[in-house]
Amino acid sequence: MGKTSKTLFSLIAIYLFLGLFLGSLSYKFFIDDFISLEEGQNKDNITSFANILNEDLIDLEKITNDYSKWDETYSFIENRNDIFIYDNFRDDAQTLEDLGIDAFLFVDKNDNIVFSTYNKRINLFHINKKNLEKDLLSNLKKIAEVSTLYMFNNKLFYVNKSKILRSDFLGKYRGYILSIKHVDLDYLKQITSSIFDNIILENIEMIKTAPDISLALKHLKKVKAYVNIDDTNIANKIELFDYKNQYLTTFITSNRNAIILQGKRTIKVFNFIGAIILLIVFIVIFQKQKLIIEQNELLNEKVTKRTKQLTRAYRSLKVKNKELYKLAHTDFLTSIRNRANFFENSIRLLKKSNNENKKFAVLMIDIDYFKKINDTYGHDTGDKVLIEFCNIVNEIIQKDMIFGRLGGEEFAITIFNQQESNVYELSEKIRDKCATTLIKVKDTDIKFTISMGVVFKEDKKESIDEILHKADELLYTAKESGRNRVVRAV
Ligand code: GH3
Ligand code: MG
Ligand code: MG
Repeated sequence: MGKTSKTLFSLIAIYLFLGLFLGSLSYKFFIDDFISLEEGQNKDNITSFANILNEDLIDLEKITNDYSKWDETYSFIENRNDIFIYDNFRDDAQTLEDLGIDAFLFVDKNDNIVFSTYNKRINLFHINKKNLEKDLLSNLKKIAEVSTLYMFNNKLFYVNKSKILRSDFLGKYRGYILSIKHVDLDYLKQITSSIFDNIILENIEMIKTAPDISLALKHLKKVKAYVNIDDTNIANKIELFDYKNQYLTTFITSNRNAIILQGKRTIKVFNFIGAIILLIVFIVIFQKQKLIIEQNELLNEKVTKRTKQLTRAYRSLKVKNKELYKLAHTDFLTSIRNRANFFENSIRLLKKSNNENKKFAVLMIDIDYFKKINDTYGHDTGDKVLIEFCNIVNEIIQKDMIFGRLGGEEFAITIFNQQESNVYELSEKIRDKCATTLIKVKDTDIKFTISMGVVFKEDKKESIDEILHKADELLYTAKESGRNRVVRAV
């Protein structure tokens, strides 16, 4: 995998991870807010619903009070003045229908029915009126004035009980008016349609767990609501109680949880925008990263190229150094060791012989009448003789012998660990070979001879200069005694 595709791959992985992480984080962060908004809204809805029931009870109370504080009513209970009853409630009187009330019960102070009247709608409920009256009166016995919800035969009613007073309000009372009004579910649905999508009345088991919402209104002493929010709906079980706090019935309402749905949509949009921004950021990072990688590769290429160049330069420098070393240690004309090289290695060999108690010999050589060769045949020929001489020596001596040019036509050889006899034999061999070698220059054959002084180290204390000096003296003797000879220490 290339560097850029690796970067791309990891960026995609990080992007997906970050996206999912931020997405779920934002969801977790916001959805609770939307849920509590929804719950708040739902509580308001339940309160509004309970208020409607409460207001209905207040209305019923007002209407009932209109009749209970009416002298005619008082007179009717006291004297049985029937005209008032005829006018308002008997036969085809429309008063109950007009008031929207289902029944009026007039009772005396001892809760005995004096007169009761029902509107025609009550027949639809198939209620035994005698049982209703009995139940209601026993329910509200000894209660002077109350507005409450009341259940009978699985039907929910608004009920009001008010004292029948004289209009002078001197506190005299004759009995009570009980007004009854059926809670019309269809009507209730209609007026709560802006609050709940659906509402039904059910007689279900009382829920024992703690309610989510509890309300207390003027005539609804106790309202409990249990809220259930699932993915799409919010449902309530709203329990109603009578004035004695006795459970009556339950309303079940349901709503689409609109706020949460709206919230989810908002979160989606938010996350979508977030994802786009994140994507742009990652694309920019990727482009930058790509550029950096490309530039790095370019730089690497340059560095590699430069390194190669440097390596090449280093190699050629090494070769040059080798050449320089050779040049510094080699005689330019004859290619044998120069003076410095000769001394350096001869000293090393002398030390070795001292350390190992081995023999050490020096051969000092000078070409005879060399000046004459130069003078007769020219300097170039002299050079040739020098070269030829070196070739002769190189062919005869062994590798570990140190052969060097000390200057002009003077040469020396140092030999380690060789018997005297071998050394003398070698010296003679060189001298003889020189004397018998013909050097061709143009058409002439040139001959040359050498003189040689040979010494062995006698004492460990001797320096190379001292030994060379001794050899030089013997060389001088060789020259003196006629040249073309080897002179050795006696
Ligand atoms: P002798 O037998 O006493 O040694 O006589 P000779 O002529 O060799 O004496 P000398 O040592 O004085 O002469 C050395 C000469 O070698 C002097 C110099 O001109 C010559 N010479 C020194 N170096 C070189 C060189 O590199 N090439 C040539 N062609 N001649 C050189
Ligand atoms: Mg000389
Ligand atoms: Mg000479």
